Amino acid sequence: MEDVIILGTGCAGLTAAIYTGRAQLNPLVLEGAQPGGQLTTTSEVENFPGFPEGIDGYMMMDNLRKQAARFGARYEHAKVDKIEIVDGVKKLYAGDKVFEAKAVIVATGARPRLLGIPGEQEMYGGKGVTTCATCDGAFYRDMEVVVVGGGDSAAEEALFLTRFCSKVTLIHRRDELRASQIMADRATSHEKIEMAWNSAPTEILADEKGFTRAICVQDTLTGETREIPCKGVFIAIGHIPNTDFVDGLLERDSDGYVVPMAGSQVKTQYEGFYAAGDCVDHVYRQAITAAGMGCQAAIEAERWLAEQA
Ligand code: NAP
Repeated sequence: MEDVIILGTGCAGLTAAIYTGRAQLNPLVLEGAQPGGQLTTTSEVENFPGFPEGIDGYMMMDNLRKQAARFGARYEHAKVDKIEIVDGVKKLYAGDKVFEAKAVIVATGARPRLLGIPGEQEMYGGKGVTTCATCDGAFYRDMEVVVVGGGDSAAEEALFLTRFCSKVTLIHRRDELRASQIMADRATSHEKIEMAWNSAPTEILADEKGFTRAICVQDTLTGETREIPCKGVFIAIGHIPNTDFVDGLLERDSDGYVVPMAGSQVKTQYEGFYAAGDCVDHVYRQAITAAGMGCQAAIEAERWLAEQA
């Protein structure tokens, strides 16, 4: 029986691992499909306190991982499918493995949302449709691409892609970006970025070899459709929390985010069971807020375990 098991190795999970590690709880950290979480797909992190010059997202997560390991965190690859609580013991089922813990911190983050339009699945991952400019941008050197979305992610991806691509069209379904002012200003004033306002994507079109050749958009005001030629479609329309495995166990909102107990950001309805980071937070969703929630969950777990001793 473990004292504490942490699910997830993003900012929330690894911060929880640092704190529970330093509290000598010897945490077991289970990592799923994306070790290091969403920040590993980001280029420069400019707004995490303590890095005046910014820091590469992958490097930051690698640092957090090493920092937690230094205090005794152990890592194991396991995708938890289901959790049961039997007489206070948390049983975590991952394929044919079962882990048991006194305390659990769920910090499983979120995954990119997709458009759900024809052509998207067919060309996803290698044929022109992607959700990660940092990972795939360099493949589109001197080509025309589009970014779909109007938030900070879309603005950031579009700006990043200007390093490689000859032209970036930022497609947004409204006439105003949701992104923060600074990111919106940078994107809309960039000479390589063209805005396609009031445009809802309806289909991604393939060439004769099955690679992306254009995206079809419909004007939300006039209903007219048009094709925007592009070799790459970068989708940046938000995220879906990774919480399916706690369906029926934890309270979740209509978008799937875990709903914490009143008066806390990280406590669930079960003692010794916490949730932190982007699987809970649909408001701030920042690296620093996820780290803060991981810290809160770790301190709560540590205090609760001390009470049980
Ligand atoms: P977001 O803020 O939720 O924005 C999602 C965007 O996608 C919105 O503009 C939305 O349009 C659009 N959208 C959603 N579903 C769509 C659909 N089916 N078809 C077309 N468009 C669709 O998500 P995000 O940009 O990933 O940002 C998430 C959080 O991370 C935010 O808090 C953001 O500030 C933060 N973040 C910060 C930075 C930074 O500080 N550098 C970088 C990245 C992310 P509407 O606007 O019409 O709803």
